[in-house]
Amino acid sequence: MLAVSKPKIYESTGNLLVEILFSGSLAQGRLVEQFEQAFAGYIGTDYAIAVSSGTAALHLSLLAHGIDEGDEVITTPFSFIASANAILYCRAKPVFCDINPVSFNLDPALIEARITPRTRAILGVHLYGQAFDVAPILDICKRHNLVLIEDACQAHGAEYKGAKAGSFGTGCFSFYPTKNMTTGEGGMIATNDEQIAQRCRMLRNHGQTERYYHTALGFNARMTEIAAAIGLGQLERLEDFNLSRLNNARVLSTGLDNIPGLIPPAILPDRKHVFHQYTIRVTAGYSLTRDQLAKHLETNGVGYGIHYPLPIHHQPLYRDLGYDDCLPRAETASGGVLSLPVHPSLTHEDLNTIIEVIRSA
Ligand SMILES: *Cc1c(COP(=O)(O)O)cnc(C)c1O
Repeated sequence: MLAVSKPKIYESTGNLLVEILFSGSLAQGRLVEQFEQAFAGYIGTDYAIAVSSGTAALHLSLLAHGIDEGDEVITTPFSFIASANAILYCRAKPVFCDINPVSFNLDPALIEARITPRTRAILGVHLYGQAFDVAPILDICKRHNLVLIEDACQAHGAEYKGAKAGSFGTGCFSFYPTKNMTTGEGGMIATNDEQIAQRCRMLRNHGQTERYYHTALGFNARMTEIAAAIGLGQLERLEDFNLSRLNNARVLSTGLDNIPGLIPPAILPDRKHVFHQYTIRVTAGYSLTRDQLAKHLETNGVGYGIHYPLPIHHQPLYRDLGYDDCLPRAETASGGVLSLPVHPSLTHEDLNTIIEVIRSA
């Protein structure tokens, strides 16, 4: 089976890990700090704070901005559940806004109708590795005095008008093994705001401002030295990884051109897409349903993913909480999307196999 995702780890990282393992320094230390500095330098922010996961990055970012009970945060229903759960962790209310059917990201034109006097933030997701429409959303934030949280968990290295995703508001990254770069488990917060950086550092370490002096209810959301060492090696290769993904995506889109009803992903203007996922849309004009195509891929040894089969507002948890809204574009997207392998370990032969299997469906 051709895996839909696969981390690429180099031998040099393996040697370094053995060294750390026997050094006696395993918890957050020098390497975590080094990784933070390198990551901030890459994203182009003044600060980066390493944490234990992308979910923790989102949670601590919202807390650092003071999001609390009764506050509303506008977000997308078409993402991994962690994007919205982070809002619930703060006892705040996610307010779902429908998406652009082509980019699958928040549609800025629909946001303002969702703003109320309780709205405090917009949490946008750079889905599949392509930046959401940052400029109009930043403009809404400025006019309504809202905080921008960027879920860049799928968008390490993606760009909007030449600047990196995650550098516009408070950027949140994940290093889960399926992402464009990994640390096993891990996350990072990127910001230019010194106060937010300080609050995130404090919250990830038990709300501690001095040793054994606790000023807030914090967490243990620290990163290990082992994770940081993996991350340093991955960050060095991220540009190569992303270039491979982009080239693989180009090969797939050329090979899948002109199949009626089957729509390859669009690269929008002013974007650098890093293809965390290569996600096609199976529409009514195609000869099979999405699920029939998925079955055909599986039978022929091509792994695939459905990101995501149920929009967040329709998840049982959210239905029970009363979020049973009508968001037709997110619902249509859930029924039609299918992600194909695009990761950097694919060979030309693999890519041709994917194309041939789909063409034979
Ligand atoms: C992976 C992911 C997360 C969560 O990251 P973890 O490191 O798994 O906690 C959040 N949002 C999106 C969009 C993701 O893809």
